[in-house]
Amino acid sequence: MIRIAIQAKGRLNEQSLDLLREAGVQVDENRRKFLTRSTSFPLEVLYLRDDDIPQAVSMGAADLGIVGYNEVAEKGFAVDTVQQLGFGACRISLAIPKGESYTGPSYFAGRRVATSYPRILREFFAREGVEAEIHEIAGSVEIAPAVGMAEAIFDIVSSGGTLVSNGLQEVEQVLHSEAVLIATPGLGGEKVALLEQLKFRFGAALDSRGMKYLLMNLPAESVDRAIEILPAMRSPTVMPLAQTGWCSLHSVVREQELWAKIEALKAIGAEGILVLALEKIIK
Ligand code: ATP
Ligand code: MG
Repeated sequence: MIRIAIQAKGRLNEQSLDLLREAGVQVDENRRKFLTRSTSFPLEVLYLRDDDIPQAVSMGAADLGIVGYNEVAEKGFAVDTVQQLGFGACRISLAIPKGESYTGPSYFAGRRVATSYPRILREFFAREGVEAEIHEIAGSVEIAPAVGMAEAIFDIVSSGGTLVSNGLQEVEQVLHSEAVLIATPGLGGEKVALLEQLKFRFGAALDSRGMKYLLMNLPAESVDRAIEILPAMRSPTVMPLAQTGWCSLHSVVREQELWAKIEALKAIGAEGILVLALEKIIK
């Protein structure tokens, strides 16, 4: 049995549960429960505030956790960061009022900066040799300059829209973050094996995201050119068709490149192109 802490509600809750489900770990979504047992894998899910996940994992109250790397870096508890999970991307940035000219980190010397991430900010200023005043507040950081609580902020940014609507401009991106899988240092025995199993399943589920399976019929003489267009895991699968001079070609492509690849393949004679959803990639 292994226990994983995930965010009880908020931005990472649903994607954490989706990833577990894609990895074959079914969990009962009864939100009133604080601890639930998977029906398909020897695992318990502990639902916590994201702020509490690094400490819970560091102490061993949970063996594993899914949390934003920003929380891991801010809290500073000893945990192993085991895997990047590719969702929940954001950055923590310094922002100043729009229209102010920015000259570099020394801009902040002697100024007051509001943040919920004092540790990361303190480390940044120490690295840059800047003495600024860090004013810790728990929420609504972006309004601090407008109400006179601070002259700048250090906060989470994803699209930047919140900054713009509060009359601020982003001037330093200090930390890039995404959701990560963390583990208690020195897990033993059965738990190590379960962690390895989960990592492998998460990897397969994550690798298949944004990928499509492509099948087509192709004149045999175009196969070499098709292989150049479609670099697959090893190379595309080519099978002869009953009709001589033709073959069937199968490959995996990134969704972003799908239309460009299809156009290139049509130009070398591909016909009957099928695009299928891809569920897992097991490397
Ligand atoms: P909790 O109630 O669990 O303490 P919270 O309000 O602190 O939740 P959320 O806003 O749900 O946290 O964000 C959780 C995580 O999602 C962040 O720590 C960060 O890693 C990630 N994230 C991604 N994009 C954003 C964004 N635009 N704003 C805030 N967090 C983001
Ligand atoms: Mg929180």
